[in-house]
Amino acid sequence: MKIGFIGLGNMGLPMAINLMKAGHQVTGFDLVQSQLDAFSAAGGIVSASANVAAKDVEMLISMLPASRHVEGLYLGDTGLLANADPKTLLIDCSTISPKVAQAVATTAKSKGFEMIDAPVSGGTAGAQAATLTFMVGGDAGAVDYARPLLEKMGKNIFHAGASGAGQTVKVCNNMLLGIQMLGTSEALRLGIANGMDPKVLSDIMSKSSGRNWALELYNPCPGVMENAPSSKGYAGGFGVDLMLKDLGLAVENAENLDASVPLGKLAQQLYENHSKAGNGQLDFSSVFNLKQST
Ligand code: NAD
Repeated sequence: MKIGFIGLGNMGLPMAINLMKAGHQVTGFDLVQSQLDAFSAAGGIVSASANVAAKDVEMLISMLPASRHVEGLYLGDTGLLANADPKTLLIDCSTISPKVAQAVATTAKSKGFEMIDAPVSGGTAGAQAATLTFMVGGDAGAVDYARPLLEKMGKNIFHAGASGAGQTVKVCNNMLLGIQMLGTSEALRLGIANGMDPKVLSDIMSKSSGRNWALELYNPCPGVMENAPSSKGYAGGFGVDLMLKDLGLAVENAENLDASVPLGKLAQQLYENHSKAGNGQLDFSSVFNLKQST
């Protein structure tokens, strides 16, 4: 299949490479030359613009930083919806606001396009290993059409519901993850203050009712888990600023809908304090070190 790919960053580049490994022809565009060079070295066809990358392709994937980039790519006179062939299935994998995803998909539909939102979970390691989880929103027919392609980049493909539903699941999941990491850190800190060995404490809580993903698989206390970012100086993994972006989307979404998310708001504030203290690029489990005064 011929695929267009816009946004060849930390996630998009390895995803595009997996499509090429599966035998697809991928035409790509990014604003950063070094990303284009790496894409070209991996066998990709570099385009001069997003509109050129979208020409004569069956599906077009975008993997951009935030809502405003997605609006900029698709909308307006120079956007893809005004220039691409409506037979091209549009797949936005960026993590953006559910409201923006719905609005762009509605405009796409009015111009004859099928568009799905397909944000991912699994990080750069999942993108490289083609083990991402895709949370997909859109019409069932379009999701079924995209599924074989998504399976070349991911292990679990979930159809969450109508347009925007993929983004809704993503913000709910990451808000819960952010809160769980804070709660897990707090419990471990309390145990350590009591003189407990954090590994013993973690082992027992992992078999008790406090068990959760952060505790069992991504323990924030250095030395408890050899392979967790906490045992590697909090390098790699999922950055504090990326978590902060997702919490911002969750809180904004809740405010739009008058939904109550007091813990989500508190988590946003705590990760923001942690980021402002110079930790934005560290793995988000480094909130374990957030000063109690904040
Ligand atoms: P990134 O910043 O590494 O990559 C984004 C790329 O988009 C950049 O290379 C940038 O130059 C390019 N870009 C921006 N505007 C463009 C435009 N108009 N045309 C062409 N290219 C453009 O970000 P990333 O880590 O790859 O994340 C991409 C998305 O995936 C984000 O929405 C992020 O929240 C989400 N996500 C990231 C992770 C992760 O661990 N990095 C995990 C899950 C989801």
